[in-house]
Amino acid sequence: MKIELHTHTSEISFCGRLTVDELVELYAAAGYDALVIANHFNFETVEKFKGGGDFVEAFWEVLDRAAELGREKGILVLSGMEIRFGYSVVNDYLVYGMTKELSRDLNYLCSMTPKEFSEFAGNNGILFYQAHPFRNNMQVIPPEYLFGIEVQNTHPRHDSRNEIALAWAEKYNLHKIAGSDCHQIEDVGSSAIMTDYEVRNIQDLVHVLKNDMYEIVKC
Ligand SMILES: [Zn+2]
Ligand SMILES: [Zn+2]
Repeated sequence: MKIELHTHTSEISFCGRLTVDELVELYAAAGYDALVIANHFNFETVEKFKGGGDFVEAFWEVLDRAAELGREKGILVLSGMEIRFGYSVVNDYLVYGMTKELSRDLNYLCSMTPKEFSEFAGNNGILFYQAHPFRNNMQVIPPEYLFGIEVQNTHPRHDSRNEIALAWAEKYNLHKIAGSDCHQIEDVGSSAIMTDYEVRNIQDLVHVLKNDMYEIVKC
């Protein structure tokens, strides 16, 4: 299976230019078998949220709609999250295995330190990776707080210094993931992971990621 781990949609991520309908359609057409939508989940995104109503509700509604669209288009759409803690630090983290129930209190989650979230993730079967840790203005956090890091982020408008991320992951034995960080049409499908495992839901994906049952490919 060809799987994308890092994409955004415009309903939730103010930086995203593709609607959920467009994103799912584009990834199905690009030949992916599965797609994770990892919209931003942080205080700034809530402040800029224009959808009206409750942000967390909307966050999960988009994912439900995406899953339904995916069933129509023949692509499995799974729920991810790109979380940020506090107001001033711009580090981003990718999270796989988060549920609606566990994310109801955004203030609580986004007020945690990465260390606290690391414990929360461990207690709830959630995998916690730092996204593009060597991009400008990012600070890589102590490896013991992380399950892994994103070693291949192919966002074309940022230099994620992927070779440094890879060396860092190898030095500290961190699990490695890859993603397109897709925000707009030209970003679609530039990274993937490939697995022989048949992923049918988010628990399967967590299993595959946890046990390194995949290869990273650049597309
Ligand atoms: Zn973004
Ligand atoms: Zn992102």
